[in-house]
Amino acid sequence: LLAKLQSLEMREWAAVPTVLARPSTGSGRTAAGSEAADSTNEPQPVRAELVEARMVRSPQDGTTVGQALDATPADVDLAFARAVAAQPGWDALGGHARADLLDRAADLFEANTAEFISLCQCEAGKTLLDGVLEVREAVDFLRYYACEARTLFGAPKPLPGPTGEENLLRMHGRGVFATISPWNFPLAIFTGMAGAAIAAGNTVLAKPAEQTPLIAALAVRLCHEAGIPDDVLQLVPGDGKVGALLTSDARLSGVAFTGSTDTAHAINRTLAARSGPIATLIAETGGQNALIVDSSALPEQVTRDVIASAFQSAGQRCSALRVLYLQEDIADPVLEMIRGAFEALVIGDPTRLATDVGPVIDAEAKAGLDQHVAAMQQAGRTVFRRELPGEVQAGSFVAPAIVEIGSIADLAKENFGPVLHVVRWKADNLAGVIEDINATGFGLTLGLHSRIDAVRRFVEARARVGNLYVNRNQIGAVVGSQPFGGEGLSGTGPKAGGPHYLARFAIERVTTVDT
Ligand code: NAP
Repeated sequence: LLAKLQSLEMREWAAVPTVLARPSTGSGRTAAGSEAADSTNEPQPVRAELVEARMVRSPQDGTTVGQALDATPADVDLAFARAVAAQPGWDALGGHARADLLDRAADLFEANTAEFISLCQCEAGKTLLDGVLEVREAVDFLRYYACEARTLFGAPKPLPGPTGEENLLRMHGRGVFATISPWNFPLAIFTGMAGAAIAAGNTVLAKPAEQTPLIAALAVRLCHEAGIPDDVLQLVPGDGKVGALLTSDARLSGVAFTGSTDTAHAINRTLAARSGPIATLIAETGGQNALIVDSSALPEQVTRDVIASAFQSAGQRCSALRVLYLQEDIADPVLEMIRGAFEALVIGDPTRLATDVGPVIDAEAKAGLDQHVAAMQQAGRTVFRRELPGEVQAGSFVAPAIVEIGSIADLAKENFGPVLHVVRWKADNLAGVIEDINATGFGLTLGLHSRIDAVRRFVEARARVGNLYVNRNQIGAVVGSQPFGGEGLSGTGPKAGGPHYLARFAIERVTTVDT
């Protein structure tokens, strides 16, 4: 695949495959607002006379990539009715049969890698490398949860009991799940949450972020082609209001959410105010991620890992490095090396193989990040900032920045983009550094560069984070090897891509027989 990518520009060889995303219910509306929509979720041609559809625009240059018909309250109502009716049959199918369908979907995802990468670039502004990794992760999620479903939902588990008594534990789906995903992993997280819920025997109403409905529509179409029934997985495109409609419905049994901490709190409040069964909430949210570097670290390795952690994906990863803690004794030479690599980052068209930093997702995100850097400059902070090349002026590009600050506490919120903050710390204050990081209340990723085992054990024992990365970068958790997720303001757990994830989507029933 990479050889093919090297010789071709993505836009030329993988035409954008899905130009219309619409609710799976196909409630009679069309993009043109005239003919009845079919229910196949097939790609539709873009029509000039669109009246109802919302334009989906490329963050690179604002051009139209496709359109989305957002779900109406009637669509949501119909989707619930179908999902409720389909759930018992889907649950009764059992773990093995569901896993076979997920594996088939994974095969189709792999067969459509080029189309997915193209959509990642056009709709989400991802670089080629990020596009490749995104598809890989989605496939890994499907296969991993298929494998887990065979074990957890394959056969009832006998439990010990006295002679003459038989105890059996069975795992079942909870009912209807809403999966609500962010734009920054428009395929992997969308697929991971929906795949897990489906594997566990739930039916799913899947709401992608409003910025990235097209890639989600292709994913759902391929799942249906793989044999997952239409009513088991339904696409429900729309904005946060559609998300609120989904989470306030009394027919809902659970929510799997990935996004900002504020939205997770809002969903929690909506669920609490609702009647009906007590719904479970799995929420993976934001971070204020730090990397601690002591004087035993190797500067070249630190530089490589800082650049990847802070600037890959234009800093739009929940795991991305936001605050680099450099031990004072080595701060100047290491910072100089980091600045050298920073100056060499290629900013621009994400469809070019050489590009390191593409656009951020939209104009609103750009404005927020530019305002943050300007405020830091006004506050008298030392700021190193790249110039944007002339060719990118039309898109939502943010000039990467490195900003020196006094402490992580100086940051009021997560800055979700290519902005790295640097703090200098004194050798005798490692405990204070960890206290400051813990005091943010976030607990997603933490990096450590140190060659001293005692330092690692010290940090490990005190840091309240979900994922600690030592002497490497702190992004790109691998499904099954590095289960991913945070604590505190960063999420509820259990970790995605880990052995405890599927169980949270299930209920347990026990049968006791007096033999
Ligand atoms: P967001 O604004 O919270 O949106 C996430 C999803 O929630 C979107 O689909 C959004 O819809 C929907 N939504 C908004 N308001 C809602 C409401 N009241 N009820 C129900 N749903 C609602 O987050 P984002 O900007 O897309 O994503 C970036 C954030 O995600 C960052 O904070 C990042 O750290 C976090 N993130 C965390 C992880 C992790 O694993 N911990 C992974 C990736 C990203 P619309 O987009 O249509 O408004």
